[in-house]
Amino acid sequence: MAEEKQYGGLDYFRMAAAFLVAAIHTSPLASFSTEADFVLTRVAARVAVPFFFMATGFFLLPQYLFGHSMDNRPLRRLLKKLFLLYGIAILLYLPVNLYAGQFEGAGIGGVLRMVWMDGTFYHLWYLPAVMWGAVLVRFLSRGLPWTAVTGVSIFLYLIGLFGDSYYGFAEQVPALRAAYGVLFSISSYTRNGIFYAPVFLVMGAGISRLGNQSGILHVERARIAAGFVISLGLMTAEGLLLHRFGIQRHDSMYIMLPPAMFFLFRLLLTFRAESAKRLRMISMWIYLLHPLCIILVRGGAKAVRMESLFVENSLAHYLVVCVVSCFCACVVAFAGKTVAERIASKRKAAGITGFTVGKQKRRFAEGRAWIELNREHLRENVRMLESLLSPGQLLMPAMKANAYGHGAVTVAKELQNVGIRSFCVACVAEGVELRKGGVTGEILVLGYTHPMDFPLLRKYDLIQTVVDYAYGRLLDSCGKKVRVHVKIDTGMHRLGERAEKKKEIRRIFRLKNLRAEGLYTHLSADETRDPAERAFTEGQASLFYEAAGYLNKRGIIEIKTHLLASYGLLNYPELGGDYVRAGIALYGLLSDRQGAENCKADLRPVMSVKVRIAVVKDLYQGESAGYGFSYRAAEDRKIAVLAIGYADGLPRSLSCGCGRVLIHGKSAPIAGRICMDQTIVDITGIEGVKAGETATIMGRDGNEEITAYEIAEKAGTITNEIVSRMGVRLERAWGS
Ligand SMILES: *Cc1c(COP(=O)(O)O)cnc(C)c1O
Repeated sequence: MAEEKQYGGLDYFRMAAAFLVAAIHTSPLASFSTEADFVLTRVAARVAVPFFFMATGFFLLPQYLFGHSMDNRPLRRLLKKLFLLYGIAILLYLPVNLYAGQFEGAGIGGVLRMVWMDGTFYHLWYLPAVMWGAVLVRFLSRGLPWTAVTGVSIFLYLIGLFGDSYYGFAEQVPALRAAYGVLFSISSYTRNGIFYAPVFLVMGAGISRLGNQSGILHVERARIAAGFVISLGLMTAEGLLLHRFGIQRHDSMYIMLPPAMFFLFRLLLTFRAESAKRLRMISMWIYLLHPLCIILVRGGAKAVRMESLFVENSLAHYLVVCVVSCFCACVVAFAGKTVAERIASKRKAAGITGFTVGKQKRRFAEGRAWIELNREHLRENVRMLESLLSPGQLLMPAMKANAYGHGAVTVAKELQNVGIRSFCVACVAEGVELRKGGVTGEILVLGYTHPMDFPLLRKYDLIQTVVDYAYGRLLDSCGKKVRVHVKIDTGMHRLGERAEKKKEIRRIFRLKNLRAEGLYTHLSADETRDPAERAFTEGQASLFYEAAGYLNKRGIIEIKTHLLASYGLLNYPELGGDYVRAGIALYGLLSDRQGAENCKADLRPVMSVKVRIAVVKDLYQGESAGYGFSYRAAEDRKIAVLAIGYADGLPRSLSCGCGRVLIHGKSAPIAGRICMDQTIVDITGIEGVKAGETATIMGRDGNEEITAYEIAEKAGTITNEIVSRMGVRLERAWGS
């Protein structure tokens, strides 16, 4: 069920693609057959670079092309990274440029052309090309629908084609020849960011959408593979013909290349494998370093007088170049990682462990009172919940209320790391916060959004819930396309158009400015499978699927459905849907102990709450501590003042011995009334407690544990309320 979230197929092919690029630059089969080498390096290996463009398009562009997001930060982040990389690469190859005299006689114009289009070394054109391409597609997507952007990209590719493999034809027409002359003075080839990159970037984005919508990737593998083999065969024939008749000026662009890439990329997506992030780094460095390694191998072979083997035998030469490049790339990637880790550990030692507040370096997370998050537990909960999903079903974790108090951006980013691409939040501001924190993928706003905030939906590519027909009309009347999911009310009688009002529901789907991508409902009695609850829940589900069926019959087919939340998935997995909006269970809790026992789910709490002891002092017989004499010492006592209060989310109802904290693995009852920012606890009998040490409000200390269930029970509420009300003053940090 996880194949759509795991991009291991892409990651492994990155390595293959990097080696194919190395083949283009070493001609491995040249010693044996020039024809075979042509087919390998000038035709087959031409799939490598478009693949890299498509991978970029796949992850970056859907939000712009389909979501009409106005949020340029993801693009800017990418550009910044590529810029840095390009700068490093330029410096790296500068000595070779100078040694080979490549700048001589180039003039300022020539050098500029190298830097901004051609690349300063023969393989570096890729970096400016991906930057130009991404910027161009982003620019086009601002004013045009994706279909038009695709059209423009194809048109540009055609222009490129006639300056590349088909130049022999263009050359015959004087006007074209002159026009291409001008082009070539700006960029040595049409294989660049303007004519070559866009079509692949757009195609990558398009495929991400295809996978999302049809969910057929895993069943169609054989057909997709056949498509790839056939189009690669046709491309080979095309290449050989063009070569035979001397039509090519350059041999990067073929008519059959985009179709071949379409099938290849989809094929790779069908491979189930964990994403392999490290391979991304290594393949990138193989790409950047292999020309340097070619020089190294040649020089080395000459030095040890083994040129006949390592240079003249093209295949041996290629293999050695691959090995050396791979080795260098691993060294650089490893060194880069170590440096990054060093910096991180230095920052940690200096107390800079987590997020930043605005642009400032933040304070020590564990300074006053804080939430410690358990990454392993979060991952295990994800795995556990995913094991309950049916094929094709995906998690859409609920990130509302600051991820139930856990820290929305922090948690969402970690979930992204484990492949989750869809999230839901309660309100627009929460969606915006996620976007600003760098969260990509789908974000569904479950609650009401005021018309004043409608522009934010587009700007941050958020999906709005249509809470009833009237609201749908209101949203439609804002005049711009918005992505929506339609909510129907199947018995909870909270948000949603009433399920029996099928015509209204259908009309929502017809509204011109709404891009309705989903239909959902919420279950109101799914906490148990007791007969009454079960009958009601199944009734809700059948009303829901009846409405979905009604829409399907009327041509509204490509919509996502979802109805399960945490309890729904645990108690009624058979009710299905494309997404599961899991909240509380993801954080390792259920609403109460009873629920946890009924479900028998192996969930692990993610949140612990810790606090510093500010002061330790004596309280002598007859004295009282805190407001209103509510705690009076019958005999001499020792107390500690903790730097946390009800404003931080510690329920005030735990005052006066109702609640407790853990210090040195022992229980210390809360003494007197909890204050807004301080809490006094009785530590009589706990030896050696010192100011500056930590106390545990929620979580484990030694053999003792205070669970969210305990706190919720004592406060007369459910765990959801306890964790989601943990205050903004608490810092959130992953525990070590
Ligand atoms: C909060 C919420 C969820 C998540 O519920 P949990 O019980 O925490 O899993 C799902 N759907 C909707 C509409 C919600 O409001």
